[in-house]
Amino acid sequence: MREVGRGELGMRTEMEKGPQGKREGGGNKDGWEWTETADGIYSTKSAYDVIKSRNIVNPHHTADKRRMAEVWKTPAPHKAAVTAWRLLRNRLPTCDNLEKRRVLLADEDKKCHQCNEHIETASHLFTSCTKTQEIWDEIQKWCGMCTARPPSTTMHWEMFGHCGRKKKIRKLLNMIWIGCVWMLWKKRNEKIFEGKESTVGEFIQEIKARTWGWNRTFGIVDVALNFVEWNSNELISRLV
Ligand SMILES: [Zn+2]
Repeated sequence: MREVGRGELGMRTEMEKGPQGKREGGGNKDGWEWTETADGIYSTKSAYDVIKSRNIVNPHHTADKRRMAEVWKTPAPHKAAVTAWRLLRNRLPTCDNLEKRRVLLADEDKKCHQCNEHIETASHLFTSCTKTQEIWDEIQKWCGMCTARPPSTTMHWEMFGHCGRKKKIRKLLNMIWIGCVWMLWKKRNEKIFEGKESTVGEFIQEIKARTWGWNRTFGIVDVALNFVEWNSNELISRLV
């Protein structure tokens, strides 16, 4: 027997609300019949049609959809947006995900390449690893924002972008976030496959240079800012 999907769960809830969608059978027979079809017989298709027509949507799906739409609307190079999209869907081949796909890894290969202490999961690598936290702290200082440290990548994405009050600032922050996660993943691969390592300072300099170029390409905020102005802390305050 297969598992019941989220959509079907919503459908079942709707069906259980009763008597909407079902009615007691007539005559002496004790039972229910499906009112959404002429013959009173339930079918999966008719239930899906009800869901569609009544716009019954799973809130989890809606939040996910909105999040993904925001990623694709953010002006950023495609390769970076794809990495962010995969991250927010937990589809990057981090060590824990490789294990789930039955890729066998030696115990030492499962550990985070940055701290060598914890098993590499997306949440650890992109939010809670000590080196990653240092990077985010520097990025926040540069942008001129102060937020808590969210425990998950999805919360991190939502909080980071929403620190901007104006639409264009939110777009810029989203672009910077996408750039950071793309580069965290790039640096992780460089370390694992090429043995290259970079310091937090080098990471920050590179992300500032890349996002400065992306901003000029996509024209998100004041493209006349020179790199020295772009580079200094409290970036957002200079753009308001
Ligand atoms: Zn770590």
